[in-house]
Amino acid sequence: MTAQRDTANGAHFAFTDRWGGVSAVPYEELNLGGAVGDDPDAVRTNRERAAASLGLDPGRVVWMNQVHGAGVEVVDAPWGARPVPETDALVTAERGLALAVLTADCVPVLLADPAAGVVAAAHAGRPGMIAGVVPAAVRAMTELGADPARIVARTGPSVCGRCYEVPEAMRAEVAAVEPAAYAVTSWGTPAVDVAAGVHAQLERLGVRAREQSPVCTLESKDHFSYRRDRTTGRLAGYVWLG
Ligand SMILES: [Zn+2]
Repeated sequence: MTAQRDTANGAHFAFTDRWGGVSAVPYEELNLGGAVGDDPDAVRTNRERAAASLGLDPGRVVWMNQVHGAGVEVVDAPWGARPVPETDALVTAERGLALAVLTADCVPVLLADPAAGVVAAAHAGRPGMIAGVVPAAVRAMTELGADPARIVARTGPSVCGRCYEVPEAMRAEVAAVEPAAYAVTSWGTPAVDVAAGVHAQLERLGVRAREQSPVCTLESKDHFSYRRDRTTGRLAGYVWLG
């Protein structure tokens, strides 16, 4: 596994790629998604491997049942025996508890205010970005003492605006809510740039310390892409306070 990772003032950010796991075709190799049809034992092994490579206890990683909404859950422990709730953002003030977001083209958003000791992970596809899942996550962080001016943001590998073709009417609908997401494919047809929309939302909220992955999942053979492959695995983004 050759995850991209970095640290900012004690906050840790990591994004996986598809290599280094045990899943068989078409989930090869490091599928971290539990709801895509892969062998659950393979997913468990992959989650253990990914956690180990990041120095995390796999039992201290909190996952979501993502539904393309704008729901936020504040957590202070893993779900344990409780059902994993339907939500698209997690927030915690618990040191050492890792929050994970699953994607294969959607934008994984990791946020941290190390001074306040608050982190968040959000799943922002086109519907979630429009629904405002990222602003909702920032609001929930603020309620726990975070300050947008101190928040460090990372967006991970996702389908880029030059590849994410949509019908003209859909682009118009998205751009009416978030003009920055208006895009054109490399072949000249209507498109949406979800990551650009997320960054515009963060900019308006006063989150200035942002980095965007240059990787387009659809163009990269090292990443899962739902639009390219349909039945495929899921990448994960992790954020935690050391
Ligand atoms: Zn692309």
